[in-house]
Amino acid sequence: MKNYKKLNALKNILIIYPIVIMLIGFLVTSTIVFISFKTFFNQEKEDVKKEFFSNLKKVTKQRVLSAKYVLDNIYALKLQDEKEKLKNFLEIIKENKLPQNLEFKISTIPLKVDSSKYLYVYKFEDGKYYYLLENKKNIKEKIKNSIPILFDSFRWGKKGYIFVHDTKGKCFYHLDKSKIGKNRWNLKRNGRYVLQELTKEAIANPNGVYYEYLAFNPNGKKPIKKISFIVYDKDFNLTIGSGVYLNELQKSLNKIEKQKKKLLNELYTKLLTIIVASIIIMGITLYIVSSIIVKKFQGFSNQIAKLEIEKEKNRCIDSLTKFIKKDCMKEHFKKLKDENVAIIDIDINAFREINSLYGMENGDKIIYILAQRLRKSLKSVDIIGRGKIDEFIVMLKYNKKEDLDKIIKRIYNVLTKPIKLEKISYTPSIRIGIALNKKDSNSFLDLLNKASTAANSVKSEDIKIGFFDKSIEDKVKEYLQIKNDLTNAIEENKLEQFEIYYQPQIDRKDKLVGMEALIRWRHPKRGLISPGVFLPIAINEGLIKKIDMIVMQKVIAQVNEWLQKGYNPGIVSCNVSMKSLESKNYINKFKEQVKNVNTKYFGIEITEESLGKNIKKVLDEVKNLGVSISLDDFGTGYSNLKKLKEFPIDKLKIDKSFIDGIPNDESDVALTKIIIEIGKILNMKLIAEGVENIQQKDFVFNNKVEFIQGYFYSPPLPADEIEKKYFIN
Ligand code: C2E
Ligand code: MG
Ligand code: MG
Repeated sequence: MKNYKKLNALKNILIIYPIVIMLIGFLVTSTIVFISFKTFFNQEKEDVKKEFFSNLKKVTKQRVLSAKYVLDNIYALKLQDEKEKLKNFLEIIKENKLPQNLEFKISTIPLKVDSSKYLYVYKFEDGKYYYLLENKKNIKEKIKNSIPILFDSFRWGKKGYIFVHDTKGKCFYHLDKSKIGKNRWNLKRNGRYVLQELTKEAIANPNGVYYEYLAFNPNGKKPIKKISFIVYDKDFNLTIGSGVYLNELQKSLNKIEKQKKKLLNELYTKLLTIIVASIIIMGITLYIVSSIIVKKFQGFSNQIAKLEIEKEKNRCIDSLTKFIKKDCMKEHFKKLKDENVAIIDIDINAFREINSLYGMENGDKIIYILAQRLRKSLKSVDIIGRGKIDEFIVMLKYNKKEDLDKIIKRIYNVLTKPIKLEKISYTPSIRIGIALNKKDSNSFLDLLNKASTAANSVKSEDIKIGFFDKSIEDKVKEYLQIKNDLTNAIEENKLEQFEIYYQPQIDRKDKLVGMEALIRWRHPKRGLISPGVFLPIAINEGLIKKIDMIVMQKVIAQVNEWLQKGYNPGIVSCNVSMKSLESKNYINKFKEQVKNVNTKYFGIEITEESLGKNIKKVLDEVKNLGVSISLDDFGTGYSNLKKLKEFPIDKLKIDKSFIDGIPNDESDVALTKIIIEIGKILNMKLIAEGVENIQQKDFVFNNKVEFIQGYFYSPPLPADEIEKKYFIN
């Protein structure tokens, strides 16, 4: 479900994300295109404006100059005309052909005939003659007044126009006819007296001048720049000017604007079409693609989910027994945590050996058979788990302790019945430890640990079932403490913590014939600890080989010291554990060390259990080095008399447990006699261990035992005390 939601979200992303990216792309591109377009059109407008003005400047100037030219020429022609008339008149006078219809008045100054004509009297040698002549001023006036008609008959270029004013502002010609004859001297545009400025500029520049100003814009609010060319005609005292025809520019600009709008509109529509089409196409494509992907993913995730479920199942189920794996039992415990629940730890003893003896396959078969038996011996509601390869864990509800005891007994009996496979016959040996919920702990892991602790600490030889109690825990703690401290002392080479005590061995003549070296551990906090406490732990934890070597080195050094001092310690023996004898490494070191001592004075003690091992060769080598070998604790183990014969043993040590019963315990007396007999048959010397009183001493010596080691003579003592007691005195 969670995956499905995730996949759908993925689908949405797959569709939306590219579309959004595409839209942004379109938006950016179109913005750039539009901006470029706008800039282009603005530039175009600017260019059009510039060209318009530059063309118009030229055209305007031409127009104005031609207007002036027209006026000046007309004037010149009129003057010429008058001169021509005068010439004709003079000719007429010469021929006395005076016109009849004229009234004559003789005068030296021209007489005004009417407002426009003057009479001139010319004096010739032969009398006086008269001539009626129009004066120049009159001609000018006439021409000036005829300007409207005159200029109207001109075409002032395309859309051109001319304006004419006198220097006082009277309008003689204008595109707007209503202005003709009016005085426009105070014409104001944007705060400037335009006509006044125009006139002033024109008078100041005889060849004409351009004049720029902001003029009224007929098409908009903003005033627009206007350029006029203006020239001053001195003869007529007139300014002739022409301006730019702004309408034309506006039209061009409008045209460009229109074009721009049209183009942009087209662009908009096209872009929009492209975008919409692209989105539709892309959307459809993406939808299809993402649907395919999502489907594929869905398939995968379903597969993965199945695998995960399978894996989860397998995670908790042991493949061989189909029991729940230990790590998953906690979940089941949660449901029972308020009930009377027992956690039962079942360990198969020495299963590793079974595996290596019969092979893994048979090992599995044995486990399987045991699992079947266990399942059958319990109710289906009882939960069974598998821990280590040789460990079952049962979690069950019980009402009374007695019921629980019965169940456990049943489990024990069922599991310890012999198993018969093809060529194998095997009787399982198991240990059972039990921890009780609420009583021993409330936590599953804690209960499990405590059940395991209880299983590990059962000692009873016959039925190995143990309930957890506090003392077990204390023992375990103690065990761990000793193990840690011991490891520490060895690893960190704190060898001074290990002290060697020597217990004398005495012959019938009360003479010292040798000693047994016995280790003591001077613990920095606990003081002197006897080997009975820490050696079993050292053996269990694989530390014994190192300890045996430490003792050997110390003993050899001590023997050499005594020999150097001229004392005879007899044969000083070290205890060598079975584990050490089995180790090639230890034996190699042993051989090295033995070179440092005269083996006449050095021996080892081995235990009976060592005889069960394949160490005859090793012992032969040791013996050949001159080292004497004693068999310790004789009679306590399962002595194999045949082997005893084969092994190169010099002395038998009768165990203290037999001596203890002497002289009152008949069986001890009898057994001791038998042991002595065996020793004699095998041609070995005998040492009685643990002789504490005179009766014991007399008994063993009277029964042909050669040597005594016991408190009767001396407890184990430090080297200096041995020196004082046996060598110095
Ligand atoms: P073990 O080799 O049988 O040593 C004899 C034990 O009996 C010694 O105990 C000694 O103190 C004790 N003993 C001797 N005579 C008497 C007596 O008259 N009365 C009583 N009550 N006890 C007597 P210890 O020193 O505690 O050693 C115990 C065991 O520890 C030894 O038994 C030996 O198996 C082992 N051990 C001691 N040192 C070493 C060592 O360096 N290496 C190894 N592998 N084992 C050692
Ligand atoms: Mg011993
Ligand atoms: Mg002993």
